[in-house]
This record gives sequence, structure tokens and C-alpha cells, in this order.
Amino acid sequence: MSAPRDRLRIAVQKSGRLAETSLDLLRRAGLSFRASRDRLFLFGDNLPIDVLLVRDDDIPGLLREGSCELGMVGRNVLDEQSLATPGVVFPKVVSTLGFGRCHLAIAVPQEMPWGSPADLEGLRIATSYPALLAAWLAREGVAAEVVTLNGSVEIAPRLGKADVICDLVSTGATLQANQLREVATVLDSEAVLARTPRALSPLLAELAERLQARIDGALSGAQVRLLMLQAPRSALADITRLLPSRQAPSVMSLDGQPDQISVQALCHRSLDWSHLEALRQVGARGLMVMAVDQVLA
Ligand code: ATP
Ligand code: MG
Repeated sequence: MSAPRDRLRIAVQKSGRLAETSLDLLRRAGLSFRASRDRLFLFGDNLPIDVLLVRDDDIPGLLREGSCELGMVGRNVLDEQSLATPGVVFPKVVSTLGFGRCHLAIAVPQEMPWGSPADLEGLRIATSYPALLAAWLAREGVAAEVVTLNGSVEIAPRLGKADVICDLVSTGATLQANQLREVATVLDSEAVLARTPRALSPLLAELAERLQARIDGALSGAQVRLLMLQAPRSALADITRLLPSRQAPSVMSLDGQPDQISVQALCHRSLDWSHLEALRQVGARGLMVMAVDQVLA
């Protein structure tokens, strides 16, 4: 048996829709890398964490067999593979990542009338997600024929291979270009951080938890802004009411000016000019808004 690894591995898509944002998120979590010559690995420079660059379809399997500890992959890919192989223990989702948003949808030819999923009875449905589609059809109580295709699902109706399709949609432009219209949602998806179901050594477990916390911290930093301002103490109630924040603000007295305060508040990223103007109206001065890169709760 080979010696246990002492470096954590995280798998991300090598090229495609998730690739760049996944690596960017790892950089925001404080990792820096060096590319290997074969471009399959990125060696972590500043932490014992390496990045494995692979096809997204391979990520659930790599996690399952323990070739890597963490992976960033679309929920659609993870759920399809776990439904397709029942009885196998699958990677766990530890965070949702907020990018790669799309949904798996049923789309029918523009001119086909549509009332409910029952209209699919007896039809042929082309998809690259046969297990997710079959599970949805079973839930809806509809008997239809699932035609599995690996790509170009959207042209299947025109080729006469299927009557309707079940495919990933984000903007809907591809459907429109193929004279199809979306009629039902099978799954809402986005990129997720998944973790191997295998037990980790204490060293790898500690690294995995550190990286998970940093990724969560980078994601929540993007959700908040730090607001600082000064005001007369008498304006505090008005200011607190106007702040788009969930936490109570920190309030400090100004040196030698007991009736003046300095306020610091973590606000929702929706904080904008109109909030600042309203705060100024109730007496706030010297308002400053800062981006938050890192949060460690
Ligand atoms: P790979 O070569 O890695 O197998 P791929 O062609 O299977 O790549 P991409 O098209 O890059 O995959 O999509 C990766 C993921 O991006 C999808 O599994 C899905 O989670 C997400 N995604 C977001 N929007 C869309 C969309 N409009 N169409 C397809 N996938 C989308
Ligand atoms: Mg793929």
C-alpha cells in the first residue's frame, strides 16, 4: 500500500463553464499555484493543497474513490451520477458556490401545445441526464421514453430522434435558436463544493476544513460591505433603522466629544448611494463603504 498522502487535492473543471470561476474562488480563498508540465495538476505554493484539472463528469467518481478530497462540480452532474448508481455512497455537498447557475428543463417545439407534464405521456424525450429525468417522470406519474444523448440534445427533435428534450438552460438563447420553449423544471442547479464520503486522515481532514472555511469566507465576503460613518449620538436610532444590516452595528465614542459617535456596520451588498444619502439626511457624516475580501466567523 502506498504511503498516505500529506497534501490535499481538490478537483475542478479543466476547461468549460465552471473552470475559470472555480480557480478564481480558490485564489480568493488564498491559494496560489504553479502549473505542472502536463497541465493536469496545479501545485499549491503556499499551502499543501493541489488542484486536479479534469472533466466535470469525472469529479464525482474521483471523490467517491478518494483520489481527491474536495471538488467543485455542478449539482446536476453530482445528482445524475448518484441517481444512476444507487447503493453507492456519494460525495456530500458541503457548500453551494453561487455560480454555474442553470436548470434542467423540459423544452418542447414552439408550436406544441402544453398544459401539464401529463402531456409528455408516450413521447420520446432526449437528454444527457437520463437518471434525473427518469426520477422526475416517476414523481410526476408520467410514462415516457427517455432517449439518452451525449451532446447536441437541442437538435434531436429536428433530427426526428425525439419529440421533446430535457436539457440544461441558463439564458434560454439555445432553446430559442432551436425553436424550442421551456415548459417545466426538472432540477435547479449551481456549482457546489463536494467532499469525499471517505474518512480522512487527521491531517487531510484539518486541511479540508480549513479550505472549506476559507471558501465560505470568500463567498460571504462577496455578500457584504463594511460601512463606517460618524454622527451625533442622538441620530443612532435613525441610523440603525436605515442600515441594511442584520447584525447590530459597533458604536464607539469619539475622543473628547461624548455626543459624537463613530459607527461601523457590516451591511448587505445591496447597500447603495440611496442608503448613504438617507443616512446623511439623519445626521451621518464621513460615510465610507469598503469591500470585504475575507470573513472568518
Ligand atoms: P467537460 O468537458 O468538463 O465535461 P461539459 O461540456 O460537460 O465540460 P460545460 O458545458 O462546461 O460542461 O458545463 C459545466 C457545467 O456548467 C454544467 O454541468 C452545469 O452545471 C453548468 N452550466 C451553467 N449553465 C449552463 C448551460 N447553459 N448549459 C450547460 N451547462 C451549464
Ligand atoms: Mg462534462
